[in-house]
Amino acid sequence: MQDLINDIADTMANAERRGKVADYIPELSYVDPKQFGISLATVDGKVYSAGCATTPFSIQSISKVFTLTIALGQMGDSLWSKVGREPSGDPFNSIVQLEHESGKPRNPFINAGAIAVVDAIMMGHEPKETLGEILNFVRYVADDDRICFDHAVAASEMAHRDRNASLAHFMKAFGRLDHDVDKVLGTYFHQCAIAMSCEQLAHAGLFLASDGINKPSGIRVVAPQRARRINSLMMMCGHYDASGEFAFRVGLPGKSGVGGGILAISPSHGSIAVWSPGLDSYGNSLLGTQALEMFVQRTGWSVFGHY
Ligand code: GLU
Repeated sequence: MQDLINDIADTMANAERRGKVADYIPELSYVDPKQFGISLATVDGKVYSAGCATTPFSIQSISKVFTLTIALGQMGDSLWSKVGREPSGDPFNSIVQLEHESGKPRNPFINAGAIAVVDAIMMGHEPKETLGEILNFVRYVADDDRICFDHAVAASEMAHRDRNASLAHFMKAFGRLDHDVDKVLGTYFHQCAIAMSCEQLAHAGLFLASDGINKPSGIRVVAPQRARRINSLMMMCGHYDASGEFAFRVGLPGKSGVGGGILAISPSHGSIAVWSPGLDSYGNSLLGTQALEMFVQRTGWSVFGHY
C-alpha cells in the first residue's frame, strides 16, 4: 500500500496541468500550487502517507461534513426541516434554487445549506461557544489538539463575503435563519478556515469508514445508520455540480473544498485525504480527483466494485 501511495504522489508531483488556485478568497491565492499530499488511514489502524501529507491547508467545505455531524447529533432528523438531501446540480455558491424553493437549501454541502446548518448549531450558544464546539469536535475525531483556525483566511473571507452574505440574507428573508446574518457568516467562515493536514483529515474521517466508530480509540462517534447516511450525502452532493462526475470517476463518498482538499471514504477500508490547491472549473481539486481515481483503480476500493 505504501508503494501505491508513493506512486500516486510521484505521478501528481510531475503533473503539468495542476488547475487554478482559488482567488475569490484572496488569502487562499497565496498557496503554492505545486504542492500535493495524500494520506490513507485504514480501519485496521495503519496510516500511509506521501508528499506534503503533514502540511496544514484550509479545509474549507470539507468542514461541512463535521458541522453536519454535529448538527445531526444535536437535533437529529429535525435538521431536515431546515435543509434538504438532494443534489443541487448547481455551483456551490448558487442562489437560483433558493428562490424557487422558499429559501430552503437543497443539501448541507452547498454554501447555503452549510450556512443553514451552522445557524442550527448556534441555537442557544454564543458564536464563540459554537466555534469552540466545532473545533473541539474536529480535534476529537482527528485525535489532535494542535488543529486550529487560520484567522487570516477567515478574515479574508469575511472581507469578501458579498456572495455568501447574499445567500444568507435571502434565506433570512424567508425566515430560514434564526440568528444575525453576520454572526452566522462569521461562524461559517471560521469553520471553513480550519487548517488541517492530510494526515489529520484522514484520521478525522475514519469514523465514517467504520460504521461510526473512531477506530484507533474505539469510541463511537455516530450510530452506523448515521455514518451510512452522511456517506450517501457525500456521494450525491459532496462535489457540487460535479458530484456525478466524481461518482463516475472515483465511486466513493467524498467532500471537496476550495482549499484543494478532498476527503474520501471507502466504507470498511479506510479514509483517504488528498490535497492539491489547483482547482478545476467546478471548484474541486484537479489533481486530488485524479489521485483518487488512480487510487480506486489500483485498490478496487470503490463502493461500486473492483473494476
Ligand atoms: N468557504 C468557502 C465559501 O463559502 C467554501 C466553498 C468550498 O470550499 O467549496 O465560498
